Amino acid sequence: MQLGSLMEKMKMDHLAPQVDSVLEQAAKKDMNLREFLTLALETEWRGRHLKGVESRLAQARLPWVKTIDQFDFSFQPSIDRKVVRELSGLAFAERAENVILLGPPGVGKTHLSIALAVKAVEAGHRVLFLTLESLIMRLTRARSENRLERQLQQLTYPKVLVLDEMGYLPMSREDASLFFRLLSRRYEKASIIITSNKSFSDWGEIFGDQVMATAILDRLLHHSTVISIKGDSYRLREKKKAGMLEKQQTRKEAAEKEKTEQKDPELAKS
Ligand code: ADP
Ligand code: MG
Repeated sequence: MQLGSLMEKMKMDHLAPQVDSVLEQAAKKDMNLREFLTLALETEWRGRHLKGVESRLAQARLPWVKTIDQFDFSFQPSIDRKVVRELSGLAFAERAENVILLGPPGVGKTHLSIALAVKAVEAGHRVLFLTLESLIMRLTRARSENRLERQLQQLTYPKVLVLDEMGYLPMSREDASLFFRLLSRRYEKASIIITSNKSFSDWGEIFGDQVMATAILDRLLHHSTVISIKGDSYRLREKKKAGMLEKQQTRKEAAEKEKTEQKDPELAKS
């Protein structure tokens, strides 16, 4: 059989287009047979892995992509880097534990949740990102269409489920009970990363019911890492910086204008 058709039959889709360059590389580096075989299979494997990451990343529906490396820990000293480093090792996902990120707006809760989601995707896990609002909408619609069970089942598949922005909107009793059903389904089976701008003592208010809040917190916190961020908004910092830049810019422009006017008095009149 021909090499080309063998690769086609074995679905070596990533090696096939690169086989000439792999052969060339092997000859150039004077590889032995084992080294050559390793290189060829590695080429195929790398392509498959990348494709898998891309497809899981698309399925995760992240609103934007940010990594841990892009997080400036020096700006947020209340976050223990060691805890984040430990979480990025993904033992929490293997053990179906939860991560709860608390703090005021702009301190990087969504950024860190996305960064952990990206890590999980790279490690081969299925991930799904939803805002609390869209989760509740999904569950409510599913219930009204008599397919709540199926929807709950689907929401147990992702190894990591990110639920962003708990507490921005109040929930009705029914919303809270739908949320509790989801938690119970995933409990000790798969991880949830949840972000909230409300402290635990205010969760009763979110769910409009202290008993429900306690039951929810009980499930969520049983196996969990809580990162409570106390600090300034990174967004505001960026705005402030931009404001300063604007001022500098205007000053520079004014100086520039002055110079031109000095050179060309006609322009100064305009
Ligand atoms: P939150 O979810 O807590 O409201 P975000 O995670 O959405 O905040 O952060 C707001 C913006 O600021 C995002 O673009 C995020 O990437 C960025 N950001 C926040 N904190 C940091 C940080 N410590 N280092 C780098 N970027 C940050
Ligand atoms: Mg956020």
